[in-house]
Amino acid sequence: MNRHKMTWATHRTAWRPQDAGAAPLEAHRRASDRTRTFLVLTLLGACALPFLPRQTLAQTAGEPDAVALSYEFLDLDDPRAMTDADGVPMLTFACFDEDDNLVWARPFASIDAWCRYTRNDPNLADRKTEQTGWAMSRGDEEIFWPLQALMYLCPAVRDTVAAIETRPLVFDRFARAWTAPHIEFTTGENLCHQPSGTVYWNPTLTRAYGAPVAWDTFPPLVGLAHELVHAWQRVVEYKQIYGPTLQIGAMKGENLARYAFYRKVPGNDWLRPRPGNRGVYLNGVLAAYFEDMEWSEWWPGFEPVLDIFEEQ
Ligand SMILES: [Zn+2]
Repeated sequence: MNRHKMTWATHRTAWRPQDAGAAPLEAHRRASDRTRTFLVLTLLGACALPFLPRQTLAQTAGEPDAVALSYEFLDLDDPRAMTDADGVPMLTFACFDEDDNLVWARPFASIDAWCRYTRNDPNLADRKTEQTGWAMSRGDEEIFWPLQALMYLCPAVRDTVAAIETRPLVFDRFARAWTAPHIEFTTGENLCHQPSGTVYWNPTLTRAYGAPVAWDTFPPLVGLAHELVHAWQRVVEYKQIYGPTLQIGAMKGENLARYAFYRKVPGNDWLRPRPGNRGVYLNGVLAAYFEDMEWSEWWPGFEPVLDIFEEQ
């Protein structure tokens, strides 16, 4: 299973006494919390119960403190995916317990809507500073939460970011300075500054070349997934200078993210795998973009090709 698991306790019970003397106070606080919760639940009445997250119910029923929850976005064709009033599947975020049972599922109109919800959900946000991606986002929540969405959509990105964050600093030999690999916004092209592992991400960019092929258009987070592989190549593989061969790994990672959007985020049925870097060059001039391929022709091990140069 590659679903991301939160190994810490759930909210409201996450607090642990720092010393023995504090324990009775905490026990009292929890007891009064339960009493208050019981009263609230009673007032709400049984009709409201099915709409409360099961997680909350489990806690008020006095479950053990530490509950290892895991989360993921569901595939649109998953029978548990939520639907709108017309029966159309929606972006669905799901929470599972330790036994892989669905605890709750919530529909969202968009990734932006998910970000707004999640940054205010204590179970997902209270320990944000310890989560994968916080260091690379440098605490900028406008970057951190979209990155979280990308990592819940595409677990391979989580592995990539986690590996980068094992090294807080790298030495940029050109700037002759230690720098922290991180993500920052740009209004220009997506880019990884290879010597420092700095990712520049344009959250509005949806085209690479303005080419008349379907694969040239993509959700902005796909562009981020691509550049994060380059940062990984810098930090983990010591690739301090960009070279075309680095594109293969980055495009492979990009395609995993594309597939996740295709499978899980409504409105991306037009999205295609990236078949290669750009296209075929004849006498140094671009003669043709690589042709579109279908998902049925793609698999996670598929290696997009580099540009092809031909002489006449
Ligand atoms: Zn690249």
